[in-house]
Amino acid sequence: MKNLKNLTVKDIQDKYRLTADLHTHTKYSKTGPVPHAFGSVMENVAAAHRAGIKTIAITDHGPGHFIYGVGTELVETLRRDIAEANELFPEMTILLGVEANFKDTPNGLDVTPEQFKLYDFVNAGYHYGVTRSGMISNFMVNHGIETKKSAERLRTFNTKLVIRALENNNIKVLTHPGDKGPFEMDAVCKVCEKTGTLLELNAKHKHLTIPEMQRAAGYDVSFIIGSDAHKPEQVGSYAPTVLRAIEAGLDLSRIVNLEEIK
Ligand SMILES: [Zn+2]
Ligand SMILES: [Zn+2]
Repeated sequence: MKNLKNLTVKDIQDKYRLTADLHTHTKYSKTGPVPHAFGSVMENVAAAHRAGIKTIAITDHGPGHFIYGVGTELVETLRRDIAEANELFPEMTILLGVEANFKDTPNGLDVTPEQFKLYDFVNAGYHYGVTRSGMISNFMVNHGIETKKSAERLRTFNTKLVIRALENNNIKVLTHPGDKGPFEMDAVCKVCEKTGTLLELNAKHKHLTIPEMQRAAGYDVSFIIGSDAHKPEQVGSYAPTVLRAIEAGLDLSRIVNLEEIK
């Protein structure tokens, strides 16, 4: 391989493949008639198949997001769509997950322990548009606007909330950590060591950032690349994220869904 600094997307695609994409959205994430994501389950699965990915998950936004949350009443429809896609692509593993929202509820999420059973697994992330999640303060702090809740107090609030959710639920992937809501990376990584929760390298939001990856690498945690596709053509996007991981000096064998092509 060339000098690491000169690597291109093509070099990465020649050398590594993505085995699974556990973070994709569909047109069921929408506001009334206005879509927030654009693909159908079938289109996302077909895109994954074209990209040579064996496992794909549909993980629309949790029900607590008041703009584009997907309620549990759609689970049956999603399961039916997945069964249809599996008929056309029998060699693919197609999972149903959800991207739950951190929220100040008894279990720290907008997906209850009872609702966990509806899904094959649950991811969780910070998002604006969720009440009882410090949403306005998070938005303001992230956009450089002063808030009543100082950035420091907000970071403490977020960190406590994320840790409580991690400790009380079986969360597979912490999505785009550090985006939307700031928290103490060290404290959260320590809990992920215990719970085995994967830290996402998100292709869309660019979190973990390079400094965040370097920080997290000091803990006994594993990483996963998620496309966070909101359009079918984004499913399985990974190469630019691998370039960032290389720049951060991250040992690529710690990325659980990245495979070296021999
Ligand atoms: Zn998200
Ligand atoms: Zn997402």
